[in-house]
Amino acid sequence: MGRRQGIMMPVWRDLERVLQSTSAPDSDVSAELHTSTRTAASDWGIRSSNTSERWLEARPQLVENMLKATIIRAEFCQMCKTERAVIRCADCMSLSHLCCGCDQKHHHVYSLHNRSSLTNNCRIPLPPTVMVTNEGRHDTCARILPMELPQHICDCSNSVSVIVGRPVVFVNINGRYDLNLPELRCRGCCASWTPQLADLQQSGYWPATIQFCTVHDTDIFQRFREMKLVAPGSSRLSFIRMLEVQTKQHGRTGKVCSDTFYKAFMEWVISSIMQNTEVCIVFVNYVS
Ligand SMILES: [Zn+2]
Ligand SMILES: [Zn+2]
Ligand SMILES: [Zn+2]
Repeated sequence: MGRRQGIMMPVWRDLERVLQSTSAPDSDVSAELHTSTRTAASDWGIRSSNTSERWLEARPQLVENMLKATIIRAEFCQMCKTERAVIRCADCMSLSHLCCGCDQKHHHVYSLHNRSSLTNNCRIPLPPTVMVTNEGRHDTCARILPMELPQHICDCSNSVSVIVGRPVVFVNINGRYDLNLPELRCRGCCASWTPQLADLQQSGYWPATIQFCTVHDTDIFQRFREMKLVAPGSSRLSFIRMLEVQTKQHGRTGKVCSDTFYKAFMEWVISSIMQNTEVCIVFVNYVS
């Protein structure tokens, strides 16, 4: 054993020397890199300065891209690919440029999308109730509030059509929309269907009054509640002003009534609490 150790020691020393000689520069570089990385990683000031420099470098490109995005180019409709595009939709990314006919067909269903007119070399935000003709003229039309519809209203097949119902004001996080409720009518037996309170709630909406002349998207109540929880000092009027700015920015008109909004919100909160209590009672009865 002692003889074996005696033979191994010089070999081990040589190996150690070779390793030290080859690894020394890399170790230095590694240590240097590690030190600089650690400095940047641990120093908020350096990180902040690096980030600011990168933003500063990118700024000219960002401004140029913004300018390019505002230029209206003559483009073909992305749906039919033959007609000239007269509409740009901010919510249809793959079908953003549409001709008059395709816009009518497509946004007849997606009535909450924010569209702009591309005629006369300027971009004008349009309410859902305005369509653009191929000659560049603006015409008005009725648009239906998107909601869940019953699959059957009678026993006839393929003869039920969706028609424009009574006017309704709809408010969501993008502001106010003046739309119409949908109605179903059968051409075969004259059966009809009009939405009731339960149908609106099923679609995720909440009435502003029991007659539901105004309807709120419940998502807006959730956002308002979250805002009040994280920033209790923020005012209801500021929230309503934000909704009105959104309405105007997207070419729509009309006010959002603050008192009606708050009354509907409080009813939604009370109903949500009662619903949770009911769920708890059912659960307790089930497990006991
Ligand atoms: Zn088209
Ligand atoms: Zn769209
Ligand atoms: Zn029928």
